[in-house]
Amino acid sequence: MSKKLLWLITLLVVLALSLAACGGGTTETVEPTVATEEEAAPAEEEAAPAEEEAAPAEEEAAPAEGAGQLEFFSWWTAGGEADGLNAMYDVFKQTYPDIEIVNATVAGGAGSNAKAVLATRMQAGDPPDSFQVHAGHELIDTWVVADKMEPVTFIFEENGWMDVYPSDVIDILSYEGEIWSVPVNIHRSNVLWYNPALFEENGLTAPTTFDEFFTVADALQEAGVTPLALGDNGIWASTHLFETVLLGVLGPDGYRGLWTGETDWNGAEVTTALETFARMLDYVNEDHAALSWDQAAQLVADGDAAMTIMGDWANGYFTSIDLAPGEGYGYAPSPDTTGTFMMLSDTFSLPQDAPHRDNAVKWLTLAGSKEGQDAFNPLKGSISPRSDSDRTLYDAYLQSAMDDFASNEITPSLAHGAAASEGWVTAFNDVMTLFVTDRDVAAAQAGMAQACVDAGVCTE
Ligand code: BGC
Repeated sequence: MSKKLLWLITLLVVLALSLAACGGGTTETVEPTVATEEEAAPAEEEAAPAEEEAAPAEEEAAPAEGAGQLEFFSWWTAGGEADGLNAMYDVFKQTYPDIEIVNATVAGGAGSNAKAVLATRMQAGDPPDSFQVHAGHELIDTWVVADKMEPVTFIFEENGWMDVYPSDVIDILSYEGEIWSVPVNIHRSNVLWYNPALFEENGLTAPTTFDEFFTVADALQEAGVTPLALGDNGIWASTHLFETVLLGVLGPDGYRGLWTGETDWNGAEVTTALETFARMLDYVNEDHAALSWDQAAQLVADGDAAMTIMGDWANGYFTSIDLAPGEGYGYAPSPDTTGTFMMLSDTFSLPQDAPHRDNAVKWLTLAGSKEGQDAFNPLKGSISPRSDSDRTLYDAYLQSAMDDFASNEITPSLAHGAAASEGWVTAFNDVMTLFVTDRDVAAAQAGMAQACVDAGVCTE
C-alpha cells in the first residue's frame, strides 16, 4: 500500500471517528476494516472515547454510592417549625436527589416526647443519622460526656465556619477542644405575643412590666377576654413561662447565678418570682393542661385570648397561618425583661455509629451553610447564628430579634437545654407539675433548691 493511500485511509478513519463522536458514537464508526496494522492507532484512539464514556458512568455511580438514606430525628411537627425543616430538606434534595430522607419526627413541643424516644434508641445502639439537640448542657452533658457523639470540628474547618460563627456560640458547643454539633439557629424564649386588635378595642397597650401586665390582665378579664393563653399539655410550657418570670424578677445577673450556684434558690427573689407566676396563672385559659403551645398561640390569633408568652417559634407559627408581624400579631419582651435576650439554639448532631455517616456529614454541611440556614430560619421563626446571613429574607420581628441579639444581655434558657443539665430540667419540670395545680410556693421553692443540690451545683 502506498504511503499516500495509507495516509488517506487513516484520514478517513479519523474523520469517520470524529463524525461519530459528534453523532453520539455508534458501532458503525469502526467499520473501515481495511485498516492495516498502522491503522490500529486510530482504533486505539477510538478506545479512548469509549473509556471516557465509562468515566461519566462511574461519576453517575458515585451519587448511587452516596445514596441510601438519611434519617433525621426531630420534634418539629407544628406550623412554622415543620415548614422550616421541609425548606431545608428541599435544598438538600436539590444537591442530593438520590438520598432518601427519612423524616423521623416525634410530636411534642420542646422535645418532651422525642427526647425519651431518642434516649431509648441511643441506648439500644440504634441512633438516627443526625438528630436535633439544644446547644449547651443538653448537648454536652447528655450526649458528649456520655461518649455518644462524634465531634464535628472537621466540618467547621473544612467549610471555613470558624470565622463565620460567633465564638460565644462555638463555645457552648465545645468540650475538650472539639465542637460537637452544628448550630442551625438562635431562638429567643422571652417574648410576649399579643393580639393587636383586642388591645386596640380595649384601649390597651402591650405591657412591658409585671405591674403593667396585671393592670392589662385585669382590664381584659373584665372585658370578658382570657388575658393569657397557656398550652402546657407538655409541662415544659409552664417551665418556659416561669423562666421568663425568674428573669424578669431577678434580672440577668441574678438569673444566670441560679445555674452557677451564685444566686440562692432559697432567697426572697425566687419567692417573689413564684408568687408572681402563681398570680399570672389566675389569668390563663381553663383548658391550659389540654392544649399545646401552638394551640395556645392559635387562641391569640383567633382573638380568644389576648397574650401568650412563648419562644419565637411562635413567630414561625403565626406566619405559617398567614399573619403578618405587627398586624396580625404583636410582640414585646416578656414583662420586665427588656434589654435581655433569653437564648437557646437548635443544633444538628453526628451520633457515633450513624448508619449513613457520609449522608449525615452532607446534611450537617448543608445545615450549617448560609443557603441552608437562610431557607430554614425565616420560616422557623429564628435567626441564623452566621454573621453573613441575608437580613432581607427575614421579617420585621426576626430583624428586631437580630438587633436585640446583637445588643442585649444574653441569658441561657432553662426549658430548652441551654442553662442546666437534662436531669436538672426534669427535676424542675416535676416541681412545676405540682405547682401549677397546688400553687404551694414554699414547697416549690424547696423543690427547686433541692434540684440545684442534686445537680451538684448548690450545696445543702
Ligand atoms: C425548640 C424549638 C421548637 C420548640 C417547640 C424548642 O425546644 O428549640 O425549635 O420549635 O421547642 O417545639
